[in-house]
Amino acid sequence: MNKPYIHPKIGPRAAAFLAKEHKLLIGGKWVPARSGKTFETFDPGTGRVIAKIAEGDAADVDLAVAAARRAFESGPWRTITPSERGKMIWRLADLLEQNAEEIAVLETLNNGKPLATSRDRDVPGCADLFRYMAGWATKITGETISISTPGQFHAFTVREPVGVVGQIIPWNGPLAMATWKLAPALATGCTVVLKPAEQTPLTALRLGELIQEAGIPDGVVNIVTGFGATAGAAIAAHPDIDKVGFTGSSEVGRIIVHAAAGNLKKVSLELGGKSPVIVFPDADMSVAVPGATQAIFANSGQVCTAGSRLFAHKKVFDKMIDGIAQQAGKIRIGHGLSDEAQMGPVISQTQMDRVMGYVDQGRAAGATVAAGGKRIGGEGYFIAPTILTDTNPEMSVVREEIFGPVLCAMSFDDDDLERIAKQANDSIYGLAGSIWTQNISIGHKMAQRIRAGRVGINTHGNVDAALPTGGYKQSGWGREKGHEGLHLYTEVKSVIVSL
Ligand code: NAP
Ligand code: MG
Repeated sequence: MNKPYIHPKIGPRAAAFLAKEHKLLIGGKWVPARSGKTFETFDPGTGRVIAKIAEGDAADVDLAVAAARRAFESGPWRTITPSERGKMIWRLADLLEQNAEEIAVLETLNNGKPLATSRDRDVPGCADLFRYMAGWATKITGETISISTPGQFHAFTVREPVGVVGQIIPWNGPLAMATWKLAPALATGCTVVLKPAEQTPLTALRLGELIQEAGIPDGVVNIVTGFGATAGAAIAAHPDIDKVGFTGSSEVGRIIVHAAAGNLKKVSLELGGKSPVIVFPDADMSVAVPGATQAIFANSGQVCTAGSRLFAHKKVFDKMIDGIAQQAGKIRIGHGLSDEAQMGPVISQTQMDRVMGYVDQGRAAGATVAAGGKRIGGEGYFIAPTILTDTNPEMSVVREEIFGPVLCAMSFDDDDLERIAKQANDSIYGLAGSIWTQNISIGHKMAQRIRAGRVGINTHGNVDAALPTGGYKQSGWGREKGHEGLHLYTEVKSVIVSL
């Protein structure tokens, strides 16, 4: 393989982690893949190899599932109190914060996002979610229920952990995606086999070390790095996994559902989106313009809830486009570790080709490139923030999730909320959306009409540990985070006692 590239600004601790042999975490031990194979992981800001990672496959998944099953059935995880479980999860949050700089550097190096985002938003957000879920560990309750069956009974429900959970995550927010999955599973007492995305294994592996340091027992969290078609598929189909939680494309989501049918394991899915940003003529432009800019260009557009379809009223359409183009032009694009970068690269050559392919398709179908539309520089995978106008709902750029910094803009000339909502809802997806208006009544009426799991009024895409998120339609099954998120990892049992 090429010699791993060490970025000059990564610092000694991240460098020491990178230089390690990156193995699988199975049953509390770091082990190479059974096959002995490894794969390379890249810095998308340079396109260079930064580390070699163990390539787990079905054989390793088998071992990881066995370890998770043992930990679930007979390990200390089963007998410790909810309070002890909560404390360990809380300690993990502390450790994340104590190692924030190193973890943020690894996240940025592997994913490309600006260091300020990794360090000041992602790591604290993950610590917050671990703490939020740590608090729930002691508050998982059932109900007592008065039943009408003749005779005397005492009936109640309990919520029990669903069991051994497989979790498959994407590359757009590697640490956050691992946290969204692990935190509720740990709080409820499940055990886990986690497969990070092939592009971004590093922070999940570092998190694995912190999980051990936090005292979470061996086998409770197992991490198998590798590819979707092998390790991922083995998790989705595994007969001894009780539930699979997946975040990624709708296409792979469908594959997971089919694979899960074998043992009818429970499935939750957080899939793609094509979220509308709807701007009414009375919107405060000083809020709507930066809001819409952020909604599409944050994380280089690689966000499942990205506001990728702009619907602006004819009266404000030009103002919105000029404003977003102007702000987009000022976004400083560069390697995530450079001090000035506000936007990093997309994740890979494949993703860059995919995004540029969509821009070409849009052009060919008659869209106008109002801003961007091109690659930046020759090294790394940088794409200029792009705005397409003259788009319509027949175009692939409007229908399909691009997952890059590409906004498709359309106007409406209507005040009928039903018709506006119909346009906004004209998508197979229903993950998020936002409404920009100073009229409270219009804001709420539109929020009622948007078929999506997370709707903002004068804000877009907010995340919070306490706020459930997930998809209507083909954007997914189930809700993550918040109290709802816990329910993805419990089974309800009714107990009836004859008195
Ligand atoms: P993806 O293929 O859906 O990857 C998500 C996860 O699923 C990865 O860990 C992947 O492993 C795994 N996987 C792939 N094939 C699998 C299979 N047959 N069985 C089990 N697991 C499997 O997403 P991607 O290829 O990275 O990106 C493609 C497109 O998906 C993007 O352009 C974007 O549109 C969409 N996407 C959406 C989200 C979201 O949050 N909604 C996130 C990421 C991507 P590998 O990493 O080895 O492929
Ligand atoms: Mg993939």
